[in-house]
Formats: sequence, C-alpha cells, structure tokens
Amino acid sequence: MNSYASANVIRKRREEGHARMSNIGLQEWADQVHAVAKSKGFWDDNVDANFILAKLALVASEVSEVLEAYRKEKGSDSIADEMADIFIRLADLYAGMQEHGIISETTTFDDVVFLKSSQNRTRPRKHGNLI
Ligand SMILES: [Mg+2]
Repeated sequence: MNSYASANVIRKRREEGHARMSNIGLQEWADQVHAVAKSKGFWDDNVDANFILAKLALVASEVSEVLEAYRKEKGSDSIADEMADIFIRLADLYAGMQEHGIISETTTFDDVVFLKSSQNRTRPRKHGNLI
C-alpha cells in the first residue's frame, strides 16, 4: 500500500463518517456521493437534457484526465486518483438520474452492474471486437 492510500488515511476518513463502498453497496454509496454533490451545489441547476449531457461530458473529462496522467507519467497515485474521479462522477450521475426519473429507482446500481458484469462472463472472447 502506498502513502496515498495508507491505512492511516483510510482509518481517518472512516472515523470522519465516510463509508467505504465495499461496506454499503453501490447504490447506497452512489446515493451518498449524490447527496454530497447536491449539498455542494452541483445539482442546483434545472435538470434537463443539457444538464445531463454536461454531466456525461464531465465523466468523459475524467477519462481524459486518466489518459493525461498516464501519458505524462504522473505516477500511480495520480492515475488512481483520476480513476476514482470517473467512478465518483458516474455514481453521482446514476443516483441523480434516478432521482429525476430518468433511471428507475428500482434499477439499483448494484443490480445493473451485477447483471452487466455477469452477462459479460457469458460473452465470447473480445465480444467480436479487436480491442
Ligand atoms: Mg479528476
């Protein structure tokens, strides 16, 4: 374990009340991430198609940040940090889209990820694609 994800840092965050996703499940974690984003004003605007498109673009921007961190050899911590940003933005958006009726609240993040990942196990090698 490197200094970035040291046991002490993780312990401190847990003592501050931050839940680890592995302890609560994807949906509850996404709900918490979304609640934080809302409390910080990131969902104050009218949630229309343009708003959702902008949120999707921000997920893509985090992917670009991983690419940049990798290309510029910024190191393990920077790459891991940007990977986490993708996941956090995606979780926020998923829960937000549920809240606004775009995704059914009964389609939990846990269930859909489980179903998709289990489906992938049954697909052929490379799913017919080259990469
Ligand atoms: Mg980032």
